[in-house]
Amino acid sequence: MLTRTGQKPRLVLVGNGMAGMRTVEELLKLKPDMYEITVFGAEPHGNYNRILLSPVLAGEKTVDEILLNDDGWYAERGIRLHKGRRVAHIHRGRREVVAEDGTREPYDRLLLATGSTPFVIPVPGHDLPGVVSFRDLQDVDAMLAASRSHRRAVVIGGGLLGLEAANGLLRQGMEVTVVHLMDTLMERQIDPPAAALLQRSLEAKGLQFRLAAQTEAILGDGRVTGVRFRDGTEVPADLVVMAVGIRPNVELAKASGIHCERGVVVNDTLQTYDPVVYAVGECVQHRGQCYGLVAPLWEQAKVCANHLAEYGIARYEGSVTATRLKVTGIDLFSAGDFLGDEHSEDLVFQDAARGVYKKLVLRDGVVRGAVLYGDTIDGSWYFQLLREGTPVNDLRDGLLFGQAHLGDSGHGDDKTRVAALPDAAEICGCNGVCKGAIVQAITEKKLFTLDDVRAHTKASSSCGSCTGLVESLLATTLGGDYSQTPAKKPVCACTEHSHDEVRAAITEQGLKTMAAVFEALDWKTPDGCHVCRPALNYYLLAAWPGEYRDDAQSRFINERAHGNIQKDGTYSVVPRIWGGVTTPTELRAIAAVAEKYRVPTVKFTGGQRIDLLGVKKKDLPAMWRDLGAAGFVSGHAYGKALRTVKTCVGSEWCRFGTQDSTGLGIQMEKLTWGSWTPHKFKMGVSGCPRNCAEATIKDLGVVCVDSGYEIHVGGNGGVKVRVTDFLCKVATEAEVLEMTGAFMQLYREEARYLERTAPWIERVGLTHVQQAIVEDADNRARLHRRFLESQGPAQVDPWAERAAGHAAQEFQPLTPIAERHEEVPA
Ligand SMILES: Cc1cc2nc3c(=O)[nH]c(=O)nc-3n(C[C@H](O)[C@H](O)[C@H](O)COP(=O)(O)OP(=O)(O)OC[C@H]3O[C@@H](n4cnc5c(N)ncnc54)[C@H](O)[C@@H]3O)c2cc1C
Ligand code: SF4
Repeated sequence: MLTRTGQKPRLVLVGNGMAGMRTVEELLKLKPDMYEITVFGAEPHGNYNRILLSPVLAGEKTVDEILLNDDGWYAERGIRLHKGRRVAHIHRGRREVVAEDGTREPYDRLLLATGSTPFVIPVPGHDLPGVVSFRDLQDVDAMLAASRSHRRAVVIGGGLLGLEAANGLLRQGMEVTVVHLMDTLMERQIDPPAAALLQRSLEAKGLQFRLAAQTEAILGDGRVTGVRFRDGTEVPADLVVMAVGIRPNVELAKASGIHCERGVVVNDTLQTYDPVVYAVGECVQHRGQCYGLVAPLWEQAKVCANHLAEYGIARYEGSVTATRLKVTGIDLFSAGDFLGDEHSEDLVFQDAARGVYKKLVLRDGVVRGAVLYGDTIDGSWYFQLLREGTPVNDLRDGLLFGQAHLGDSGHGDDKTRVAALPDAAEICGCNGVCKGAIVQAITEKKLFTLDDVRAHTKASSSCGSCTGLVESLLATTLGGDYSQTPAKKPVCACTEHSHDEVRAAITEQGLKTMAAVFEALDWKTPDGCHVCRPALNYYLLAAWPGEYRDDAQSRFINERAHGNIQKDGTYSVVPRIWGGVTTPTELRAIAAVAEKYRVPTVKFTGGQRIDLLGVKKKDLPAMWRDLGAAGFVSGHAYGKALRTVKTCVGSEWCRFGTQDSTGLGIQMEKLTWGSWTPHKFKMGVSGCPRNCAEATIKDLGVVCVDSGYEIHVGGNGGVKVRVTDFLCKVATEAEVLEMTGAFMQLYREEARYLERTAPWIERVGLTHVQQAIVEDADNRARLHRRFLESQGPAQVDPWAERAAGHAAQEFQPLTPIAERHEEVPA
């Protein structure tokens, strides 16, 4: 578009706030040189992150930290910035804007992004000094100044903004009373049970509340002194913050004849009734809706930029919004229709003692709304189900327990739960950043810290409530301790020490029991917890093979019971079948056991083994005895241990096979079975590069070639598929076996507990592994020897031990109470 001969068209933006500047940024990405850009901002600062005013008020961030673009940023891009100049008129006929100070700028395209104005209740005294709203840096300055010289604050409004203001003032040392018209807090975002929990937590922080209170007057003579309510009662106050709502700021648009209703009316391309005038942000009304959160504004910004760049292919069709409260220590999430109606059903989970409340509203088999309090990790997932209208009838049983409980994708901690999210899951609602984009940035741009991720993706840089999710993503993508800030991550809340420090102390100080570790490293709890005990048990086992006695009670249930617990409480049993090769006799024995114990399902696993599913816990020892009698040992299909070695048929049968991949796989399994590892460990051997055993997504894979054996490491399937790295090529089977033992031992000795080979290698680098076991033959031999030593005590069949009565209490059913009563003598 060249409207003046040889010159660029002029784009003028009115409103140097979040939506307007985001549109400019999006435009610069698409067509950096298309326009001559001029920006007017009524505020005297550059563009800043308004969302972060709350942390500034609370003293958690400084003004500098929330600035988005400084003067240099505008200058570098050739953008003319008029700071502190409010636009007073738009002469649409002349296509020119005029600021209050007389500055004029002609435009070819005009973008309005004038935001909102805070609503002030017109009660007597509303204009007294000491009465402020909460909208911009000036308001925050006024509140901070008041907090230094005054003691009592009243915040009118128990919504999101009011509570954040109240929390900030409390943190600044003021006595704060929140006054709210309704009888529950945040009634537009959460339901009464969640509101009650929220109120309790805020009261525990020191806030006071006056609910169902109607403000009649703000008192004072010269400066505010208090607030009077309709019932005649009064609360003293030196500062009154009005946070009762906002209105789209449409004055300028209206005065210049642009069609406005509640907001400036725009179509799906963000054009007003005057097609050269666009509008975005809180000043806008689109399909009848006005928005007061940033996520929709970012979507608008993208579409508007697309049209300003004359691509014209994007449409804004409205947004569904979700809310999180930014009060440190309070986890609250809400989205959609959280109240429901007579046609909807509620799924509710409440654990008042832990302060956890979850409610999902379903209608016609899809999620329509959600309120989460105390545990919000699944908020993004529910939000995605809601936005996409995913049918959830099949998930209903486990829906409230979160995504991690839907299958075998991982149980428990935040990292596994985040890992289970699909790439399209939105992590940062404010900036619309999905998991896939964050993971891609972490891996491609080699990001290591939260600040890096914020700088490159904008995720977690706005309201900050997704920070925990982003940290978990960093941890799952990089593995373990991803960041230099904080410098180290403790194993768990029981200790200040990191995994690496604990491991080093165990070997350097010769600590051989868990109690010795607790004492030497000043553990904060006498017996550790469910997070540190399994890790310590593994570290001690790996450091002192044969000497340290495994502590079954520090293992997860699957490892304690030597079977996989299934969703109905029964177990699955997988006998080891070396290299995946079996015989008719073995198959008959398995069939006999399956019939004897009425196994409802017999299934081949992905690792070429046979899974007997649906076994009662009390039957396990007897079943293992029978399997043991037929020559089977445990397949460790449940363990952080060597699982299987998958093989193809190789040169013995296949036309393409170059080596005996089956035979080699059997040797590898016989060498490594029983070995406990930081996480599960799987191997594969393919007889030629056709790779039928899928060896290149295993922790260690061997691909046979004409001239020898290629060894690959660090692959996995699962939630996040990773193809292996090529480690080296060797010429003989003996070298494969030595390399396998050495690699496993290096992993056993260096990786952190629950870190699979993939994140471990990404963390330490493939070069480190190659130096340790490919380039340094002596070191390789030493590692292999240590591996063999540790295998001595490890290759004991746990099933045989249990069948012989070891740990029998684990498998004895509890006596039903009714039976016990019958035994009580009369
Ligand atoms: C304290 C606080 C906390 C918030 N927390 C969250 C949160 O956690 N999550 C969330 O999603 N949202 C939050 N929000 C809302 C979010 O900040 C807004 O949705 C967003 O800033 C709106 O962007 P905007 O560009 O439309 O308006 P603004 O960012 O307000 O920008 C409008 C700008 O236009 C300027 N202007 C107006 N008229 C003129 C004129 N005539 N001439 C020149 N300039 C003019 C104004 O001075 C202002 O700088 C919060 C808001 C506040 C105030
Ligand atoms: S990987 Fe090669 S050798 Fe093995 S089965 Fe496939 S084609 Fe045959």
